[in-house]
Amino acid sequence: SLSAEIALTSTNKFKQIKHIVLVASGKGGVGKSTSAVNLVYAMAEQGAKVGILDADIYGPSIPSLFGLEDEKPTTKDNKTLQPIIKDGIKMQSIGFLVPAEDATVWRGPMASQALNQLLNETDWGELDYLFVDMPPGTGDIQLTMTQKVPASGAVIITTPQDLALADAQKGIAMFNQVNLPILGLIENMSHYICGHCGGKNHVFGQQGGERLASRHGVPLLAEIPLDIEIRTHSEQGLNIAKQPIKATENYTACSQLIAS
Ligand code: ADP
Repeated sequence: SLSAEIALTSTNKFKQIKHIVLVASGKGGVGKSTSAVNLVYAMAEQGAKVGILDADIYGPSIPSLFGLEDEKPTTKDNKTLQPIIKDGIKMQSIGFLVPAEDATVWRGPMASQALNQLLNETDWGELDYLFVDMPPGTGDIQLTMTQKVPASGAVIITTPQDLALADAQKGIAMFNQVNLPILGLIENMSHYICGHCGGKNHVFGQQGGERLASRHGVPLLAEIPLDIEIRTHSEQGLNIAKQPIKATENYTACSQLIAS
């Protein structure tokens, strides 16, 4: 089976990593990668040694979110992959290794093998936190990751929209099934503050994240607004350092909750 192809091996490998945190979403496009990167920056700002693994083999966005599309990891002894490092953050992504259009046509076993290599053969060194930007959804790769990686917990990203919430719920069910603690839910694109009148608009619905969180007894870590600057800055690879202050505060609070 596909799962058998993934040999995400021995907890041993990860003994230098204190905590692995999976960042997951049911649906694509809800801001999972953007949130993962901002969480990583917020953690780093507080002095933690952090890394991020882009587990989204079919749609890697870590290279562009850090503005590092042209980087290539070097290898040591022809085996160990060195992570790319920016602002003290170590990262690894299939996007650094093969052109985007190549990986998108890989069959499951190839994708699994690539993910296995990124995770196990990257020389992460000592880390307080390794965040994993999971592929969206609850398929075989996601399930295997949650079973084979000694993660401390998962953070779920959703928008307040019904479709996204329904898929986030499937993610929660998957983590519950493998007994992985859910550290909390982030409601992204929560609302939009009108640039003209300052009014708050609930573009994708209201309080969906809050309801989902309370139904499952998990903390709602933050409600991140829909903000033009979050998009433009993430497209320029600037991230939290230049985010609107509101989002920065939110992600900092999230990272403190995750750390506690
Ligand atoms: P996912 O990882 O869930 O597929 P991304 O993080 O790639 O989603 O985000 C999808 C798009 O939405 C990106 O263009 C990103 O810049 C934008 N985006 C994410 N969060 C916000 C936000 N709070 N406000 C505005 N744009 C956002």
